[in-house]
Amino acid sequence: MKIAIASGKGGTGKSTVAANLAWVLARSRDIVLVDCDVEEPNLHLYFPAEATDVPVTAPVPEINFERCNFCGECGKFCRFGALAVVKDTVLTFPYLCHSCGGCALVCPRGAIKEVPRTIGKVSCSRPLPRLVLITGVLNEGEVLAPSVIKAAKMFAEGHPLIMYDASPGIACPVIDTLEGSDFCLLVTESTPFGLHDLRLAAGVAEELGIPAGVVINRSDGQDEETVAFCREHDLPILMTIPFSREIASVQNRGGLIARDLPGWEERFAALSDAILEVGP
Ligand code: SF4
Ligand code: SF4
Repeated sequence: MKIAIASGKGGTGKSTVAANLAWVLARSRDIVLVDCDVEEPNLHLYFPAEATDVPVTAPVPEINFERCNFCGECGKFCRFGALAVVKDTVLTFPYLCHSCGGCALVCPRGAIKEVPRTIGKVSCSRPLPRLVLITGVLNEGEVLAPSVIKAAKMFAEGHPLIMYDASPGIACPVIDTLEGSDFCLLVTESTPFGLHDLRLAAGVAEELGIPAGVVINRSDGQDEETVAFCREHDLPILMTIPFSREIASVQNRGGLIARDLPGWEERFAALSDAILEVGP
């Protein structure tokens, strides 16, 4: 089963929920947790362990100047501004390249070869006997988050239980993360902004045909609007985590409430049971 954890906005506690849920699941079964928030991965902070790194590369063009006649076709084709033909040279800007391969296809002289360029890495570790953590990391300034997400997901492929922690928002990286998931857990908070972003995230899950459920985090007890929205859209509220100093203090020191606060292991276990019931 593949479970995705998502939220329409940052700061809802999505990764905290993912880490607690993974910790509880790893008490009784093998699980692979994939941090797909490649621009700002943070699950390794909850699960420190020695990791093995594998580079992620993307193909970028290399010009053979012995063949090139500076016709300009490649520059005209590239809509990302990653190539410019100026007088008697072709300038390449690999950081802007989206690795579409189009310039090599349109070059009439066969003067473009694609060469790999490192854009990030995938780190693999085993912080708990039954938990493997796979972290996708996009190098600073790079644009190809989806390539690193796909690489990180590929490392987990074939495992019976996988959990993806998506980046916040609803942009392409989130869609790449959610694709192929059997269930999506949406983490929100009881504020007007939280509800607005929950609407967006729930819409993405619905569009992708993925069943979803909701966790309300930092609840102030006034969740009527969120509850009404969930009821209207047939989204079960699977857990409510209250706003509490005790919980905040555990989380601020990088702890897990399921492990460090009495009663929360059981609540996260009930959450995991509810999710696993949806499984294929
Ligand atoms: S399309 Fe090929 S031949 Fe034309 S400028 Fe680009 S690299 Fe040179
Ligand atoms: S591979 Fe695509 S994005 Fe990269 S330089 Fe060529 S045309 Fe532009």
